[in-house]
Amino acid sequence: MHAAMSRAWLIGAGPGDVELMTLKATRALAQADVVLVDDLVNPDVLQFARADALVIYVGKRGGHPSTPQAGIVAQMLAHLRAGRSVARLKGGDPFVFGRGGEELQALQAAGIDADVINGITAGIAAPAAIGIPVTHRDHAQGVVFVTGHSAGSGEPDWAALVATRMTLVIYMGMRRLSDIVAALLAAGMNADTPCAAIESATRPEQRHALARLGEFADTVSRAGLGSPAIVVIGGVASLALARHAPMKTLSVGVGCRLHTSAEQIETAVRAALGSHTFDEISTIASIDSKAHEAGLLEFCARHALPIALFSREQIAAIPVAEPSAAAREHLGVDGVCEPCALLGAANVSAGSAASAASAASAVPNAQLLVRKTAHAGVTVAIASIIARTEHEPTTHDTEKQDLP
Ligand code: SAH
Repeated sequence: MHAAMSRAWLIGAGPGDVELMTLKATRALAQADVVLVDDLVNPDVLQFARADALVIYVGKRGGHPSTPQAGIVAQMLAHLRAGRSVARLKGGDPFVFGRGGEELQALQAAGIDADVINGITAGIAAPAAIGIPVTHRDHAQGVVFVTGHSAGSGEPDWAALVATRMTLVIYMGMRRLSDIVAALLAAGMNADTPCAAIESATRPEQRHALARLGEFADTVSRAGLGSPAIVVIGGVASLALARHAPMKTLSVGVGCRLHTSAEQIETAVRAALGSHTFDEISTIASIDSKAHEAGLLEFCARHALPIALFSREQIAAIPVAEPSAAAREHLGVDGVCEPCALLGAANVSAGSAASAASAASAVPNAQLLVRKTAHAGVTVAIASIIARTEHEPTTHDTEKQDLP
């Protein structure tokens, strides 16, 4: 039907977390008639594909049967020649150890021009997921991305890599980890060098292990870590956070009209969050007249977030910078979202029921991070709960996990 317009994309789906996909990737995916998916791709990203798209799984996880590379390209070509647009979805970045280069060459050889859309590669995302920067002025001048799976291309020159003194980020290194560690030690790398392995990074099932090089292979095998995992070797691994789970420090105040949908609230909260994530939210706060507001309750349930409701009196006790005539008319308060965000934060930091009096006096332990924002009739403000000293993420010394 639209043969002339059929297109091909090589798309990086990122490391797993759907939100780490690029806008360009989601937009291309939404145009594809056919989607060929690798097995490291989180199937959740298919939410961006058309409902009627043909989805083909062509996994090739090490050791398991898979569609041969030539077969994948042949399938792509068949669909393209039939006038269908084809998206080839790969984990991470399509050009980093993903055979994306080979597939692009094969397509080009057949006269097809494919667009390459970058993704966030696991070698950067996995270390970051536990607080490890792959470079850091104090630890490494650079980073080397290397495969630990030597099939076909011969063994990396580990001694040469040790000599660079750069961070080593190893893909596909789990099966041969003890050999790799032995080679690094033999090449003179210090047995005290910090190491990390991160399995299924940015996914709910993410796990990791930290150890010094000398004990690393044992530690990883005792922890039962396997593929897919990224191995990081070098001083930067000492920066891994002991608590890499995001701290729940945000209280989100929501004001909405009757019959506002969960989607509308979701959109407004997402917009107000900016670069913050839902994981950082500790509570949703609103006025108690919204106790039965279906959209609001559904939104909270969806994100497993508790809701804190405050009375008109509690809310009226918190001054609002720009009073809203509509809120005053309908609810008898000058504004809902900002006072509720602050009350919600005070509520959490008090660790028990809110005391309207203490919240009103100064709203201790809370400050407005995002002032009132409005999105399609939903108002949102965000207060941050000021961490008490024992939670304060100040220096590396208090944050980094002690290595054995
Ligand atoms: N193109 C991909 C890499 C493909 S090679 C990218 O840019 O990320 C496959 C290897 O990537 C796995 O063996 C593992 O080492 C790594 N990998 C991919 N996704 C991962 C994840 N979520 N967590 C840890 N490692 C991952």
